[in-house]
Amino acid sequence: MNDIPNLTYKDASGAVVANDLSWVPDTFDHVRLDYSFSMRSVIRTRDMLSSLPFKGWLNYPVSASLTCRGCTRSCVTCGGSAYAFRSHFGRERVAFRDPELLVRDIAHIARHIPGPVFVLNDFRQAGDEYVTQFITGLRKIDFRNPIGFEFFTPPDEHLYALLAENLNDYSVEVSAESHDDAVRSAFGKPYTWEALSESVEQAFRHNCQRFDLYFMTGIPTQTASSVLGTAAAVEGLYERVDNNPRLLPFIGPMAPFLDPGSMVFENPEAYGYTLRARTLEEHRQLLRQPSWKHILNYVPDKMTLDEMVDSTYEAAIGLNRLKARVGAIDKKAAVATERRVLEAQIAMSRIDDIMRREESVRGELLGEYKREIDVLNESTVCEKSELNWPRQVNAGHVFNNVRLWFKVHAEMLFPRLRRVDARFIKGEA
Ligand code: SF4
Repeated sequence: MNDIPNLTYKDASGAVVANDLSWVPDTFDHVRLDYSFSMRSVIRTRDMLSSLPFKGWLNYPVSASLTCRGCTRSCVTCGGSAYAFRSHFGRERVAFRDPELLVRDIAHIARHIPGPVFVLNDFRQAGDEYVTQFITGLRKIDFRNPIGFEFFTPPDEHLYALLAENLNDYSVEVSAESHDDAVRSAFGKPYTWEALSESVEQAFRHNCQRFDLYFMTGIPTQTASSVLGTAAAVEGLYERVDNNPRLLPFIGPMAPFLDPGSMVFENPEAYGYTLRARTLEEHRQLLRQPSWKHILNYVPDKMTLDEMVDSTYEAAIGLNRLKARVGAIDKKAAVATERRVLEAQIAMSRIDDIMRREESVRGELLGEYKREIDVLNESTVCEKSELNWPRQVNAGHVFNNVRLWFKVHAEMLFPRLRRVDARFIKGEA
């Protein structure tokens, strides 16, 4: 164990041993996200459920592609920020995946999986040359699945034009956190609502299939009244893009935790938070609490937890109604979501009542109530399927998966056929 770089473990006496963080590669080329490994495992073990990445994946087979390790930015609540990587993981700069390898990862996905591919971590961080190589590379492999990109700041028109020119079906996701420029800036994303609105307009001018816009509550300096302004701001944005139903806003709390390792976790008072947990065990105990309000590891100083809960639900209802009005979601789904939000509000207050009771009776009362809560926890502030991007199955996927099935069975019968994947590390496969 001593020889394994970066490993922290407990020895036989129970003492914690932290090996040096000596394996911090400059590139992200040594990792390969190849979903055929999971598919091979399914075929070999005849056990599909254990290999599924999440519940419902078979109905919505989304896959992820990773562009880098680390981030160039330092948002204050983020445990994956440049600050956190520098302070805790010995990483001074972002390690990018070679764009050719990234394209190859995506080509592998497209061969076997019909769902959308979500490209995580804003690849623009690697510079203009990388952007061009990656996007034109996708054109060269004639990539046809829907593809979504996470962007940390609103892209400019030039990028949308490049995406439209080279891709059949692309979507965009931006986490604006707040419509309020001062709040977003306090979070660490100092661009303006105006710049974001302009970017959304440009995206739709360049054939963007869908623009997901995320908002969050519980961020530094944010008040309940600021949260409650979200729906009105998004309404203005909808007007600006002619009520385009391909704009989909979402809101949710920063939950369950402020990231350990982030700037706010290290110095909560400076950012307006009181921490309710520090150690792993304290966090484990919080996770056993009955509702997200009780699970949070922080209390913001600009609003009470009750205000945060109420304003989050109110803003979610506002966005839900807007989406229904412009036709981004159907009316039936909107009614169901609104009903669930109202039920969640009632549940939250019932849980609060139970939590005020004597500790000796709390467990039993919460146990009785748990089944109802579990149902509510599935999808509260929006229908989960709203988050899904479109997918297409074609004969190629069927053919490639059948071919893989035969190949794995042949390898099981004749193990020498099985090739070891050192080639992958070199990117030769
Ligand atoms: S929130 Fe996103 S952009 Fe900000 S530091 Fe974290 S990963 Fe980077």
